Amino acid sequence: MKQYLGIILFILSYLAIASQVIAVYFTWDEDILTYILFHKLFFYLTAFLAFVSHIRASFTNPGRINHDNNMSVLEFYLTTYKSSREKADEYNNVYRSYFQAIKRTMPPDQGDSDISEIDSGDENINYNRNSEIPDAKLEEMNKEWKTNFERCKKCFVIRIPNTHHCSKCRHCVMKMDHHCPWINNCVGLFNQKYFILFCYYCFIGCSHASFITTYYFIILHQDIFLNSALLISVYSIQILTAIIFIIFNAFMLKDQFFTIKHDMTLIDYKQGKIVQSRSFQEVLFEVFGESFSPFWFLPVDRSNRKKIKRRKRN
Ligand SMILES: [Zn+2]
Ligand SMILES: [Zn+2]
Repeated sequence: MKQYLGIILFILSYLAIASQVIAVYFTWDEDILTYILFHKLFFYLTAFLAFVSHIRASFTNPGRINHDNNMSVLEFYLTTYKSSREKADEYNNVYRSYFQAIKRTMPPDQGDSDISEIDSGDENINYNRNSEIPDAKLEEMNKEWKTNFERCKKCFVIRIPNTHHCSKCRHCVMKMDHHCPWINNCVGLFNQKYFILFCYYCFIGCSHASFITTYYFIILHQDIFLNSALLISVYSIQILTAIIFIIFNAFMLKDQFFTIKHDMTLIDYKQGKIVQSRSFQEVLFEVFGESFSPFWFLPVDRSNRKKIKRRKRN
């Protein structure tokens, strides 16, 4: 929460949702049952889901890599993406001392330090030559290591493919899509679903609220509306906010669809880089959960994050 713009936009997101909720609330004296059931109820549900999705997108760790979880992250990558538990164990055996050596070069709180001052150490990998693995095998692993993983020049963690360093969060983030000031957080591997759901429910909610208020104030009760300064202000703020958010979220959703379809992040897209070539379905499953279910539409955790947490405890 260090960026002021982030904090301002974070609060503005809630004010935008609130302006929709308040404007719809003023249409409450309509007593047609179907109206109440199909519009108001649906709208409030959408607003609630947008709110929860925003909270979760903001406060969920997007997949930051630090020196404490670095080895777990690598194991997670090897077992999840390469389906190789054995390889993860081999790496763990051979490279653990290397990770510990890197960790020792880091100050306790790298976030607040000037990390450019820190000695990046020996770039050659000091793998464990005392292990029982033959030298030829170690050389082969080392070559494989260098093609898969690289060390971040800013925070010195070992990155898995598709990781980017966020200069605002001062961390490397797995599958970092972009840093979003509206949620004051990075969008990455573990909160992309919440971010997409926020954009989706915000888009639906703002469109629906605009329909409800315009129909109610302009078509049904124009005379009452035009004689009330309060209603005119409430409606004007609502419709203006809604238009901005509808346009903004439509573009965000289009970008998210594109990046998932082409298996890339927004950063890769801007850099013109094609990273991997998984199918649309595989990437969808990664973002939303392992198989299609109604949970895809709810801001609940169905991601791979539990796998990292589980390994950390071992
Ligand atoms: Zn980094
Ligand atoms: Zn960030």
